[in-house]
Amino acid sequence: ACNADLADIIYAVDFAARKHKNQRRKDPEKTPYINHPIGVAHILIQEGGIEDGEVIQAAILHDTVEDTDTTFEELEEHFGKSVANIVREVTDNKLLSKEERKELQVKNASHKSLQAKLVKLADKIYNLRDLNRVLPEGWDENRRREYFNWAEKVCCQIYDANDHLAKCLQTLFSEFSGK
Ligand code: NDP
Ligand code: ZN
Repeated sequence: ACNADLADIIYAVDFAARKHKNQRRKDPEKTPYINHPIGVAHILIQEGGIEDGEVIQAAILHDTVEDTDTTFEELEEHFGKSVANIVREVTDNKLLSKEERKELQVKNASHKSLQAKLVKLADKIYNLRDLNRVLPEGWDENRRREYFNWAEKVCCQIYDANDHLAKCLQTLFSEFSGK
């Protein structure tokens, strides 16, 4: 990435950190939420070999609309139309129930753009690794299994987006089913 890309990426980190400042992950240590979007961007760069600055910005911003007061208009103003549109593609409709949202992810995954598929794959890798590390408070083994099963239904449709991320997910799913 050139310096202009890097400046945009660091600005996204600053923006997302402010938006997620009061949020924590579900792990028992209550990790600051911002570690998740930063980690998703790192997976895309380090493991996916992704150099598209728009995808990296979208990864950093991917949960701001779903989980904070951020609007797509605001993202467009700060980061431009294409970044805002990638985030739009990976944002669930909060008017629907959790069950409906999960169903729609399975139904719609294959119709997303390549850029959105990349963010989705890296997001799932991060969350599955997090679940392998430690169960969130209130979760049991069965809930973790349901999450892995659902994530596989979403991801298996979009492996075409990136061979390295696909391999990583296939290993996570096969190691899990072997447990
Ligand atoms: P989810 O099952 O969707 O929670 C997982 C999501 O939480 C991840 O996708 C991730 O999303 C986020 N997250 C935050 N911290 C962590 C972490 N440490 N590890 C992994 N993921 C983390 O829970 P919801 O409450 O959103 O949804 C409820 C759904 O769960 C219902 O649809 C229902 O089917 C199911 N359920 C199952 C139960 C059971 O016992 N089997 C009980 C209750 C509900 P992000 O990337 O956005 O941060
Ligand atoms: Zn996420």
